[in-house]
Amino acid sequence: MAFFSFPSSRRGFLAASGIASSAISAAGARFAGAAPGKGTSKSSDIYARLGVRTHINAKGTYTYLTGSLMPPEVSEAMEDAAKHFVYLVELQQKAGAKIAELLGVEAAMVTSGAAGAILLGTAACLAGNDPKRIAQLPDLTGMKSEVVIQKSHRNAFDHAIRNNGVRLVEVESPEDLEGAISEKTAMMYFLNAAQSTGKIGLEKWVEVGKRRGVPTFNDAAADVPPLSHLSDYCKMGFDLVAFSGGKGLRGPQCAGLLLGKKELIEAAILNNCPNEDTIGRPSKVGKEEIVGMFVAVERYLRLNHEAEWKDWEQRIQAMKKVLSSSAGLEMGTFVPEVANHVPHLYLKWDESAWGITKADCAKQLREEEPSIEVLEDDHPQGMSVTPFMMKPGEELIVARRIKDVLDQARSKAHS
Ligand SMILES: *Cc1c(COP(=O)(O)O)cnc(C)c1O
Repeated sequence: MAFFSFPSSRRGFLAASGIASSAISAAGARFAGAAPGKGTSKSSDIYARLGVRTHINAKGTYTYLTGSLMPPEVSEAMEDAAKHFVYLVELQQKAGAKIAELLGVEAAMVTSGAAGAILLGTAACLAGNDPKRIAQLPDLTGMKSEVVIQKSHRNAFDHAIRNNGVRLVEVESPEDLEGAISEKTAMMYFLNAAQSTGKIGLEKWVEVGKRRGVPTFNDAAADVPPLSHLSDYCKMGFDLVAFSGGKGLRGPQCAGLLLGKKELIEAAILNNCPNEDTIGRPSKVGKEEIVGMFVAVERYLRLNHEAEWKDWEQRIQAMKKVLSSSAGLEMGTFVPEVANHVPHLYLKWDESAWGITKADCAKQLREEEPSIEVLEDDHPQGMSVTPFMMKPGEELIVARRIKDVLDQARSKAHS
């Protein structure tokens, strides 16, 4: 799945980054799903009725795999929200204010996702709170019309910027950046997961934005954990910051957060549903998602992140133990630096001697029962798995299945 259009050397990292995050809490983690065990993937009545297969997710938070699973307190809050009528804008404003207070940032709103936050943040920078301009978007006649971006930060989600009709101006060096900013510049977009790929870092980006009077935006969609990221970038001086709600935060899949300056968040709300003649009208967020996102943020702040990390490490050890009886299998752990910042276990073997490639192995795991999704493509470390999105106990099912698939292939190759 190519979510990003990065140079190929970055693809693995970013395919993962684009995607990752969510949290199974440590001891006593409760999942809104079936209990683990054989047949986990068949346990849902509603999906069985629809003839849709479920998977064990050993891969991470990928939208095409439906992101993450909401903890019961989030889905219960959504159910509660569904029982009453409210004024949508009032809910948006009050939930946003509470989230901002919890995170210690100036202002916040719940969006349809990080992509929705990018769309609305850009609209806020272009049209502000001017009703005529709001209705006019994406026709930019009489408005600013450019957004500056580092060449290495271009990605599939910048479509949400371009939906506003703006032209992206690519820069590489700090000198390019100074030269690219003009009276046409509406915003400067930064992709947090690509911070090591560009010549201009976070602080410099903010410094230039402030000095030149251009609002700066940081797309940190998949970049919790760690928890501190939820406030780090606003504190650093970014005017707007986006997070996905349905990745590491384990909120509703179609929710996200736009954080930042009060004036811009107010403008973003005006550019959004339920206001009808707006660019944001198609990215509607229901009362259930707004409430679910608020509760997901509250929960994430309360979570024992250290215990959760230890739990992931222990589950990786448990997988290693099962797999260690496969002689010659190379195993190791790694933690991606930004995005998907959780422990992963990689597996490497002699593909020609064992008669099975990592793609074959991943395919077999996906197609057989229970269906298991692993991280196979573009990963320099080999095929990898993470307990990040697994229900408790699933790590053993996954390790045993991988061992079976590899052992079978190997004995076939030797017979
Ligand atoms: C996932 C992702 C998005 C989109 O997030 P949604 O919450 O699915 O809208 C945007 N930018 C980056 C970098 C992402 O990883």
